[in-house]
Amino acid sequence: MVSILNNQLRASVHTLGCRLNQSETFLLRDQLVARGYHIVPFGEPSDLAIINTCTVTRSADAKCRAAIRGYIRKNPQAFVAVVGCYSQIGYKAISEVPGVDLIMGNREKFQVLDYASLGKNNRPVIIRDRLTKEDFSIDFVGDTPFNKRANLKIQDGCSFICSFCIIPKARGPARSRDLENLLDEARQLVDRGVRELVLTGVNIGTYQSCDGDLLTVLDLLNEIPGLDRIRISSIEPTTIPAELFPRMNDPEHALLPFMHIPLQSGSNAVLKSMRRKYELAEYLEFLYTANEAVEDLCIGTDIMVGYPTEGEAEFKETCRTFLENPFSYCHVFTFSERETTPAARLKGNDMPVKQLRSAKLRRLSEAKRYAHYESYVGKQMTVLFEDPKDGRWPGYTDNYIRVVAKSDKNLQNQLAHVRMDRVVGDVVEGTVCTILADQKTANRSLMSLG
Ligand code: SF4
Repeated sequence: MVSILNNQLRASVHTLGCRLNQSETFLLRDQLVARGYHIVPFGEPSDLAIINTCTVTRSADAKCRAAIRGYIRKNPQAFVAVVGCYSQIGYKAISEVPGVDLIMGNREKFQVLDYASLGKNNRPVIIRDRLTKEDFSIDFVGDTPFNKRANLKIQDGCSFICSFCIIPKARGPARSRDLENLLDEARQLVDRGVRELVLTGVNIGTYQSCDGDLLTVLDLLNEIPGLDRIRISSIEPTTIPAELFPRMNDPEHALLPFMHIPLQSGSNAVLKSMRRKYELAEYLEFLYTANEAVEDLCIGTDIMVGYPTEGEAEFKETCRTFLENPFSYCHVFTFSERETTPAARLKGNDMPVKQLRSAKLRRLSEAKRYAHYESYVGKQMTVLFEDPKDGRWPGYTDNYIRVVAKSDKNLQNQLAHVRMDRVVGDVVEGTVCTILADQKTANRSLMSLG
């Protein structure tokens, strides 16, 4: 490999796909820094690239191949390692992309740097083992300062059998991260400046290590001094303990009033064919219980459009379910046949039908998100601000409303009470009222405002 910057090798990392992949790429990036690499943005000239891939849909596969090809075109001399879910499932297709040197599945990907000194290969080295069901720890090494929300991986894999889903094959069965190991990483992230942690995994509600369950994780994270916010990312409907609700309401607990609960379809017939673990009535009953139990709760969902057994009537049921119930927004996924899944054998909807339905549901989601944002105009909310962009400070409220504010003060990584002024596009413009020491102080003072 060529050394360029003061004899320092340059590396870039790239993530495709979900929040879990993002958290893993972050750990890979930390490994690179610890080994002395200078990190450059993906696409710029570098000596090494690690591309962490996704295989959730066919279009995800195509995006991965395009990203790999695009990088190699600009960096033909670089060592190219492709890791992650698409490597686990689609290693043959990746090995046909000229210029790839190393393909590593999900089990091995954190050893990628042990192989990065191999030098360019004529044919890629493929390292890909069966995925086991053992619980796990992660070595982490980072010490670079960090001032954003950070993802914390607590779980991996899934033992559910949804008919459309390739993820259990790409990620293996459900397993949980060692409790002390994840707490150590959380403490280190907080020491590096992180104030909000987003818990990630494939099916985090099934977290169960020998030391405790998801509630144990939340309560022990809550004891870390300096950690202001804990956000749960996507969580499967049948796995959510009702004991979360009092924690979300407790001003002394860092757990935020936010849940993203995949619905997938509003039709019982389709849910059954998808092999989801609930009927619509059960899901809705839980939704209303949560919505009533937690003040200002934001509930988002995933909906899959164009599943083979979804006709026009079932699609309408889904739209009605989404519109008439307390969802704040939805992420729309267009059904894509994944080889070896049961749903791939069903005769399906044509692509134009799927695209039309997806576009319609996305419009409904935009309208609901807008109405959700509008309902907060005039109120004061607590916002954690990020890096400035275009002369304004962006951030999120505890219940996941995207806010921007103008201020001469440095708001980076600061918590503040913000008056919500107006909805403009997909953000709420606000005015900063008070900068706050921490989220618990913010909660208490908002409660006193009533
Ligand atoms: S719960 Fe279903 S959709 Fe989610 S990862 Fe597991 S199998 Fe896939």
